[in-house]
Amino acid sequence: MARRRIIAGNWKMNKTPSEAKELVALLAPLVKNDDVDVVYCVPAIDIVPVAEAVAGTNVMVGAENMYIEDKGAFTGEISPDMLVDAGVKFVIIGHSERREYFKEDDTFLNKKVLKAFEKGLTPILCCGETLEQREAGVTLDWIRLQIKSDLQGVSAEQAASMVIAYEPIWAIGTGRTATSEQAEEVCKAIRELICEIYDEATAEAIRIQYGGSMNAGNAAELLSMPNIDGGLIGGASLKADFAQIVNA
Ligand code: PEP
Repeated sequence: MARRRIIAGNWKMNKTPSEAKELVALLAPLVKNDDVDVVYCVPAIDIVPVAEAVAGTNVMVGAENMYIEDKGAFTGEISPDMLVDAGVKFVIIGHSERREYFKEDDTFLNKKVLKAFEKGLTPILCCGETLEQREAGVTLDWIRLQIKSDLQGVSAEQAASMVIAYEPIWAIGTGRTATSEQAEEVCKAIRELICEIYDEATAEAIRIQYGGSMNAGNAAELLSMPNIDGGLIGGASLKADFAQIVNA
């Protein structure tokens, strides 16, 4: 069975609640597309207004982050139950910005992945190499290490339902996109790894996105590759271009 495409916007730390409502209103008529899953991953404070604004449409809401505990004395953190109660379906885990600036390592990210599944959230698990790693020829080794570590204890059924986003760090927010061949090579290797860890059915079911300066101009070519099932979009998700990617 063909995998359903999934285009997710990662708004990062960019929109106030009022601005978020304006953006949703701008995009609403443009992103109507029954053939694609469309997700807005938004800052925590925007989740409630965005969930209200997209109610009854084809757009789903995602979170950019969550904590690994159910509740308690974790000042400033957001629990998975809070996300679920607010209508969140997806959660980005392991974005390179969280790995770098907030020192989230694979042991911690594995806990997040397991917690997300426990609470019924679908992880969008990010992985990707630095430019130095690519130039040193260790990209695939690095990606395998990240994914294997982050998926410890995840069942085949859970893995089949999740999303992995391949995001080369050198392409994020830089305007420098991986070529469709580079992106396909890694996404294919990720699918092969999923087959190795689980089985062919799981590898066929899991959805793999490319992320890194995807825009209205390059989306169609990237999305035409056999192992790229969608995109995780940063900068271009904050403007009407996002709709062009959805419709590509
Ligand atoms: C991202 O941060 O997930 C991302 C892909 O950003 P951009 O599209 O801006 O490169």
